[in-house]
Amino acid sequence: MKIIVIGAGLSGLAAAWELAKAGHDITVLEARDRVGGRTWSHRLKNGEVMERGGEYIFPDEHAIRRLAAELQLPIMSHGVRYARRTVNGRIITDIELRRTNTMVRGTLRAMIADGVSGVSLERAYAEALGADYRLDPVYRRVTTSAAADPELVSAAAVLLHEASDDDRHIEDGGRLVGGNQVLTLELARRFGRRIRLEEPVAAVDQSASGVQVHLVDGTRVDADAVVISVPLPVLRRMPLGFALPDPEQRALDHRLMGVAAKLAVPLGAVDSDVALQNADHTWWSWRSLSTDGTSRISALSSFAGGAAALEELGVERGADGWLAAICEMRPELQVTGEPMLTTWADDPWALGAYTAPNLDWQPEDAEAFSHAIGRVAIAGEHTGTAQSLSGAVASGYRAASAIAALQKA
Ligand SMILES: Cc1cc2nc3c(=O)[nH]c(=O)nc-3n(C[C@H](O)[C@H](O)[C@H](O)COP(=O)(O)OP(=O)(O)OC[C@H]3O[C@@H](n4cnc5c(N)ncnc54)[C@H](O)[C@@H]3O)c2cc1C
Repeated sequence: MKIIVIGAGLSGLAAAWELAKAGHDITVLEARDRVGGRTWSHRLKNGEVMERGGEYIFPDEHAIRRLAAELQLPIMSHGVRYARRTVNGRIITDIELRRTNTMVRGTLRAMIADGVSGVSLERAYAEALGADYRLDPVYRRVTTSAAADPELVSAAAVLLHEASDDDRHIEDGGRLVGGNQVLTLELARRFGRRIRLEEPVAAVDQSASGVQVHLVDGTRVDADAVVISVPLPVLRRMPLGFALPDPEQRALDHRLMGVAAKLAVPLGAVDSDVALQNADHTWWSWRSLSTDGTSRISALSSFAGGAAALEELGVERGADGWLAAICEMRPELQVTGEPMLTTWADDPWALGAYTAPNLDWQPEDAEAFSHAIGRVAIAGEHTGTAQSLSGAVASGYRAASAIAALQKA
C-alpha cells in the first residue's frame, strides 16, 4: 500500500518503520525542518548533549528499548534518583516511597469502590496523606511530572493505569547515547528522501478508495492509508473530512495538554549526583552521568511542569528568573556559560508539552485507537496511557498494526 505518515516524531517514525519493513511504500510529511518532534537533543558549547524535550527512559519501557536495540543504539543510565529526588534536604528511602505509593493507591481504590468518581491527583494525595500532603516528596514528584494542574488530572489514570510506575523504576532512568534524538535521526537516515521536511499538512480527507492529504502550500498527496501522528492540539485544529467515531472522540476529549519547559545550564566543577526537587513548586534539576559512567556531565538540567511553576520562574521573560532560582537552591554551582531555555507551549507544532488524562478519563479510552478509522490510524503520546517517549513509540506500533489489518480485511 502507499501510506502517508504525518509527523516525524517518535510515534510517526515508529509507525513508518514498521510499515516500511512490511513492504509498504511510505512517505513521511513533517512540518519542521528537523525530525524528532518533542525529542530534541542539543550540544552545548562545552560539548555536553542536553535534552530540550523528552529525556528519561525507564527500564520497563519496552517499546522504545526494542526500537533502540533494533537500530543498535545504546541506552545509558542517567544514574539520577528520579523518584527519590532530594526535597528539603531529605532523600526518602525505597521503603518510604513504596509505602506512600501503596497508601495513596489504596485510598484511591477505596474511594472508587465507594462510588466516588472523577478523583483528581490533588484530592487523592490530600485524602491519603492528610493536611501536610503538599510537603510530601512523592506528591511533589508526581505533580511535577504531570505538567498540568493536579486538580484537573485524573488520579485513577495516573496512579492506577499508567504504564510507568515508581515502584519498578526507582532510579535507573536512562537516555540514548548521543541524545534521545539519535533514534529519529537514525530512522531519518534510513528513510532518506521518503521523509519530506517543511511540509506541514493542513487537512486530511478519505473516501472508500483512498486518502487525500492537503498540504499548507495548497498541494495534495493521495495514498491508500494515512497515519496521523501530530500532537493533540494540532490534531484538534486539523480539519478532517470525516467524523471520528464516539470512542476515539471521547478519548481525545478526555485529555488536556500540559505545559513544561527545560533549562540547560553549563557548569564548571561538578561533584556528586544531586537530584533536587523544589519543595514549594513543581520543578527540579539534576546532573546526569557521563556516557562512560565515571562522572557527572558538566551541565545541569532542569524541568518545570505546569503553568504555575512556569509563571513562578518567569519563563515567559526568559531564563534569568529560573537561573536565579536554581542558584539560590544550589549555591555551590559554578555556571560557566549561557543557559539554554526551551519552551513548548509557544511551539506551533507542539502547542504544549504532553497530555494528561482529565477528570472524565475512562479506562476504555486506552483502547480507543487500536483500530483504523476507515483508512486513517491515529498515533501519538495522547493516544495511549503513557505520555512518554516509549508511549509514543508504542502508539506508532499500534497504528502500524491498525493499518496492516486493513490489508488483511
Ligand atoms: C519538556 C518535556 C519533557 C519531557 N520529558 C520526558 C521524559 O523525561 N521521558 C519521557 O518518556 N517523555 C518525556 N516527554 C514526553 C515525550 O517527549 C513525548 O511523549 C514524545 O516525544 C511525543 O512523541 P510524539 O511522536 O507523540 O509527538 P512529537 O514528537 O511531537 O511528534 C509529532 C510531529 O508532528 C509534527 N507536526 C505537527 N504538526 C504537523 C503538521 N500539521 N504537519 C506535519 N507535521 C506536523 C511535529 O513537528 C512533530 O515532529 C517530555 C516532553 C517534553 C515536552
